[in-house]
Amino acid sequence: MTNGEFIEATSRLEKYYEKEFSIEQQRIMFEELREVSVEKYKKAITYCIRNNKFIPKVSDILNAINEVKKIVAKETTRIECKKCKGVGYVPYYKKIDNGGKEIIYQFFAVCDCGNEKRYDGTTISDIEHKSKPFCFLWYFLPFFLPA
Ligand SMILES: [Zn+2]
Repeated sequence: MTNGEFIEATSRLEKYYEKEFSIEQQRIMFEELREVSVEKYKKAITYCIRNNKFIPKVSDILNAINEVKKIVAKETTRIECKKCKGVGYVPYYKKIDNGGKEIIYQFFAVCDCGNEKRYDGTTISDIEHKSKPFCFLWYFLPFFLPA
């Protein structure tokens, strides 16, 4: 990216975190990040805004660039699936007896196409490391259907 693109994109970070990089800091950051395309840099900034409590340093930005790359790779490896329309979950309905009153719940089952595993890396690795009851709640979280 050009220095102008860098300054413009970086100002979004500064505004959001209400902090200003010094000229010297910006010069060093640009030296480290100039090989990165402006599109990637902007995505990394968005990633930082969503994930970093504090204004990111060069290492945070480089890490964000890697994370964005992983997310993009996951999205592009998604399989086309007619059963779940590619989202990895299939809704189904079940009547549940709620103290004599039947309520229809909508449930989500994980589709066997495997797209669910390719979905957003952060939530998926969490699921895999959570205990069974939590997985159950996560997968079968009921949603009330309007009568
Ligand atoms: Zn599917």
